[in-house]
Amino acid sequence: MNICYQCGHTMVSEEHYLANKSEFTVEPKFNHYEHIIQNALYGRLKPNNILCKQCGGSFSSGTDKDFVSLFQIITETSQHRFINKDHGKGSINTLSGFLFDKADERKKKDVRIRENIVTPKDPFYDYDSEEQVVYLYANRVRSKQYEPVVRKELERKGINTAELTFKVVEDVTEMGVLGIFFSQGVEDFHQKFTMGFCKIAVGFATYHKVDRNNLKNVLKIDASGMGVLVNKGNIFPFFPVGTVDAQLELIRPDIERHYPSHTLILFSQKFEGGKKHLYCYIDLFSTFQYYVLLNDDYTGPDIYHNYYQAVAKEDIKEPVDVRKIRHKYLNIVVSDYKIDTKKFKGADSDMEAYLDFLQAEIKNYSFAPALDLKKELYDRLEFLMSSYVAAESGLFVTEASGIINRLSAGEKRALLFELQYYLSRPDGGIEFYRKNFLEDDGSGKLETMSTPVECGTDLSINKVRSIYCTGKFEQMSKWIFENRLIKDDQQD
Ligand SMILES: [Zn+2]
Repeated sequence: MNICYQCGHTMVSEEHYLANKSEFTVEPKFNHYEHIIQNALYGRLKPNNILCKQCGGSFSSGTDKDFVSLFQIITETSQHRFINKDHGKGSINTLSGFLFDKADERKKKDVRIRENIVTPKDPFYDYDSEEQVVYLYANRVRSKQYEPVVRKELERKGINTAELTFKVVEDVTEMGVLGIFFSQGVEDFHQKFTMGFCKIAVGFATYHKVDRNNLKNVLKIDASGMGVLVNKGNIFPFFPVGTVDAQLELIRPDIERHYPSHTLILFSQKFEGGKKHLYCYIDLFSTFQYYVLLNDDYTGPDIYHNYYQAVAKEDIKEPVDVRKIRHKYLNIVVSDYKIDTKKFKGADSDMEAYLDFLQAEIKNYSFAPALDLKKELYDRLEFLMSSYVAAESGLFVTEASGIINRLSAGEKRALLFELQYYLSRPDGGIEFYRKNFLEDDGSGKLETMSTPVECGTDLSINKVRSIYCTGKFEQMSKWIFENRLIKDDQQD
C-alpha cells in the first residue's frame, strides 16, 4: 500500500515528480519516512509509505511535539545511555522533581534537575558548629546571593561568621530519595498522551497493510476524505491480570536483557459469535503500557505482528577474547554477538580456524537496536520457570525465586500451569503474550481469557492499577538514577 492514512491520497516520490512534472496537473503527495515511534523517543522503525510528507509535517509540529515533550524527564536525563537518534540533538531543559527525606518520606523538597544535576528550588543551609563549616545547598549562581543572607541570619543568632568556611553543595541527590514526575503540571496531559499512542497504533497498523477504513475506532474519515485521530473510549492501560505477566513485570528491569525497550504488538482477536477486535499493544521504555482498540468490528484477515527494539546502548564494555573462553561456553558468545555460524567455511574439526572466525565476527559486531521479541520472551519465560524450580526445591536461588516463594500455593500452581502453557506452544508463547492469560474457571479448569478485554472492562481494580503504574514508573526512575552518572564512551 502506498496511501497516506491521513489524507487518503496515493503518494509518489518527490524525485519522480520533479523529473516528470508535465505528467501532473496538480502537485501530488510525496512519500516520506515517518517514524512509527517518534524519533525523539529513539524509535527506529521508519517506513516511507504510511503518511505523506505534507501530513507528516503537520503531525511533527502538533501531536508528536506534544507527545514527546511528556517524556523529557526520561529522554533528557538518559541521553548519554541511549542509542543515537536518527536525527536531531537533544535539548537541555530544566525539569522538576522532589527529594524525599530518607528518614521521613512525608518530608520533601522541591528540586530542579538540569543536565543531571539536582539542585533545590529554594536554597537551604546546614551549620556545622564543630567543624565551623556552613554548607550552602544551591546552585553556583544562587549561592552567591544566598551566602550574605545566611551570614546575617547566623549573626542574628549571635554566631561570629568571620571564622566560618562556606561550602557550596550543588548536587543534592545524595541527601534524599529523588522522585521524578511524569504528568504533574502538564496542561492537557491526557489529550497529549493518548493522541501520541493513537498515532503510533495507526502508523503500525498501516505499516502492516491494514486499510485505513478498517481502523474505525481510532481514525474517523470525514466527508472530505481526511482521517482524523480519535482518542475517546479506545485507549486503556495494560494491567498484569495474568500470573505470568505479573511476574514478568515485577522484575522486568532485572530480567529484560535490553531494558528499557519499546514493544509494539498488532493483533486481531476473535470472540464468541465471530466478532473480531483489532488491537495494538504499545509498551514504551518498558514502562508505559497501553492497548489501543483500533476496531471493535474488524473485518480483515486475522493478523499478528510485533516490533521490539532496545533504547539503551548495550553494556558490552570490552570485546571478548574467545581463546580465554571454555569451549562449552562459546555458544553464549555466538548468541551475545548474534554470530551467524553458517558463515564459517572451515572444517568442523579445525578449532583454531573457528576461533579466528568468531574473533573476527566479534570485532565486526555492532549493536543493532531491533531485537527478536520471540527469542527474548522465551529466555524470560525459561528464566521464570527455573526460578519456579529454585523456589520449590530450595536448591538454588535466582532474582525471581524469592518473589515466587512468597506466592500462595494457588498462585504458584497458576504460575506453573501458565508457564507450561506458554513454553509448550509451537510459537514459544509469543502469540499468547499480551493477548491472553489463563484463569481458573472455578472448577479447576483453565480458561483462556482476553487480556485487553479484561484490562478495558474491570474497573474494580482501579486502585491496584494506579499502584501498578506508580511501581512501573519507579522501576524506570531507579534505572535513570543508577545510570545517571555512568559515562559511556562506547560507540552505538
Ligand atoms: Zn497525507
